[in-house]
Amino acid sequence: MPQASSTAGSLFMVVAPSGAGKSSLVNALLEREPAIKLSISHTTRQPRPGEQHGREYYFTSVDDFLAMRDADEFLESAEVHGNYYGTSKIQILDQMKAGTDVLLEIDWQGAQQIKKQFPNAIGIFILPPSIQALEERLLKRGQDEPHVITRRILAAGGEIAHAPESEYVIINQDFATALSELTAIIKAARCRFAQQAARNAALFAQLGIHAPLS
Ligand code: GDP
Ligand code: ADP
Ligand code: 5GP
Repeated sequence: MPQASSTAGSLFMVVAPSGAGKSSLVNALLEREPAIKLSISHTTRQPRPGEQHGREYYFTSVDDFLAMRDADEFLESAEVHGNYYGTSKIQILDQMKAGTDVLLEIDWQGAQQIKKQFPNAIGIFILPPSIQALEERLLKRGQDEPHVITRRILAAGGEIAHAPESEYVIINQDFATALSELTAIIKAARCRFAQQAARNAALFAQLGIHAPLS
C-alpha cells in the first residue's frame, strides 16, 4: 500500500456532480494558493473547446488508457459518463513524499479507491444549490453536446448520494462564499498537529513538543 513518507502535505479530493462548479472553484483556489499541486488526470473523453492536453487533462486513447491500467500505472481509475478517467501514480506520489499538498478532482468511485490507500485523504463534496441550478449551469457552460448534458444530469442524483462519504460539504450557491469555505478547509487541514509538526520539526523540538502517544 503506498503511503506518504511525510505527513507535512495533505491529500484533498474534490468530488461533485458535473456542473456543480468544482473546476471553477479549484481553479480560483489555485490562484490564491499556488503551492497546492493539482493532479492532471488522464481521460478518454474528447477535449472540450479550449481544453489543452496536459493542462485540463492528458487526453488519451482507449487503447493507451487500458494499457496504462493493465501496467498498474494508475492510483485510481473509473468509468464516468461513458469515458475512462484515471490519476496516474507518477502525477502525485513524488509530490506527496515531498510533503506538498495535492488536490485531486475525481468522481466518487475514485475517491473510494484513494481512501483505501490513503485513509487520511480529505474528501470535499461540492453540492449545487438545486438540480435545476445544475442543469442551468451545464447549459450555460455550453461545452457539452445536448445528449452529454442530459446524461450528466441523469447521473447527478446517483453521484450526490455519495456526498456522505466526504468529510466536508460545500454548497456552491454564492461563488465567493463557496470559495472562502474551500480555502478555509485547506488552511485548517494545514494546521492539524501532525502536519504542523512535520513542517516545523526543528521548532517543535526546540520548544520541547512531543507527539501525543497514540
Ligand atoms: P466535469 O464534471 O464537468 O468537470 O466534467 P469532466 O468530464 O471533466 O469530469 C467528469 C468526471 O470525471 C467528474 O466526476 C470528475 O471528477 C471525474 N474525474 C476527472 N478526473 C478523474 C480521475 O482522474 N479519476 C477519477 N476517478 N475521476 C475523475
Ligand atoms: P464542474 O467542474 O463541477 O463540472 P464548472 O466549474 O465547469 O463545474 O462550473 C459549471 C458552470 O457553472 C460554469 O459555467 C461556471 O462558470 C458556473 N458556475 C460555477 N459556480 C457557480 C456559482 N456559484 N453560481 C453560478 N454559476 C456558477
Ligand atoms: P469532465 O469530463 O466533465 O471533465 O469530468 C466528468 C467527471 O469525471 C467529473 O465528475 C470528474 O470529477 C471526473 N473525473 C475527472 N478526472 C477523473 C479521474 O482522474 N478519476 C476519476 N475517478 N474521476 C475523474
